[in-house]
Amino acid sequence: MESAVIIRYCEIHLKGKNRSFFEKLLQTNIENSLSGIKHTFKPMHSRYLIENFSEEDYPKIRERLHKIAGVHTFSRALVVPNDLERIIDAALEICKGKSGSFKVETNRADKTFSPNSVETSALVGGKILEKFEKNLKVSVKNADFTVNIDIREDGKTFVYSETEHGLSGMPVGSSGRGLLLISGGIDSPVAGFMMSKRGMKIDCIHFHSFPYTGEAAKEKVITLTKIIGEYNGGINLYVVPFTEIQEEIHKKCPEEYMITLMRRFMMRIAERLAISLGDQAIITGESLGQVASQTIESITSSNSVVKMPVLRPVIAFDKLDIIAIANKINTYETSILPYEDCCTVFLPKFPLIKPNLEKVVKNESNLDIDGLIEKAMSNIEKYSF
Ligand code: ATP
Ligand code: MG
Repeated sequence: MESAVIIRYCEIHLKGKNRSFFEKLLQTNIENSLSGIKHTFKPMHSRYLIENFSEEDYPKIRERLHKIAGVHTFSRALVVPNDLERIIDAALEICKGKSGSFKVETNRADKTFSPNSVETSALVGGKILEKFEKNLKVSVKNADFTVNIDIREDGKTFVYSETEHGLSGMPVGSSGRGLLLISGGIDSPVAGFMMSKRGMKIDCIHFHSFPYTGEAAKEKVITLTKIIGEYNGGINLYVVPFTEIQEEIHKKCPEEYMITLMRRFMMRIAERLAISLGDQAIITGESLGQVASQTIESITSSNSVVKMPVLRPVIAFDKLDIIAIANKINTYETSILPYEDCCTVFLPKFPLIKPNLEKVVKNESNLDIDGLIEKAMSNIEKYSF
């Protein structure tokens, strides 16, 4: 029996005149993600249809659909001609191995098909009971599963029972572009995933303090970036050498200002790179109060050196909530690998928790800010995944 995947979207319905733009974008994103898998793809009023794929490719298709923002639900269906006997065969096939209670729901777009939908449901339900009387019973109100029969005008009927939830959200590319500051930690990859889900196309920037942080630390960030890229239709990572900036701060500024000043450099460099890439926002994994550098005073200090909007999707999340998402998207295991991050280099014993902006600016004036930034930026390495 032939099979198909029915894909449904949701929020896109709300977009009025923009609807066709969103539909086309989602279609392109799905098709791109299925590249390399033999199949046919068809839009079908408010849904999409994947057909003509081989059985062994279905797990791959399923895995990829779960990573596409804008996909609300999808169902794998058996496809038969609009013929009662064939529909019954498909329904029996779908019920094989199942137990518990069920109901049958028929949707008859092809009005030339007889019997009508209520009669079809009753007939098919009766056949299912006859064949699986030991394991299945009917329950219209509290069924464990529903056998859906979709009799279409084009002469094809879809029979299916399982509907999986996708990511929902908005198709990537529908909400502008942002530059994610990605560390090797738990929070920033989650922040990148959340903005991807909201439809933002993302670039990544990472600050690397070679030789204080080694190849393994960089590889870790590369792995995390690749995972986020799976939700973003591919991704670019820009690695910025940060050692000289840190050494300069260490040499010329009071010890307790290390993190505060480092953050300001990160933000300035991120904004410059973002502008050059056409990114419209900076994204961080900051969560209020989580560590010394994430008090509102610290955020004010780092925010004040940039004009671009800074998006912090996990700002109000508890660590455990962030970890739950990291586990779901498969970044957690990588994030907890014990490699150094540049933030642990020259870590002061007593970092400023509530930096005073005037004093920060004064202490920073010992540094050749523009010179350091230009030098770091001229040595950026780019990786594409
Ligand atoms: P994470 O879990 O994302 O590492 P964190 O809880 O360790 O965050 P901080 O070290 O204060 O918090 O970092 C706050 C944010 O600053 C990070 O979420 C990330 O967006 C950015 N950041 C920190 N270190 C780096 C780095 N080496 N390169 C790029 N961005 C960084
Ligand atoms: Mg960190």
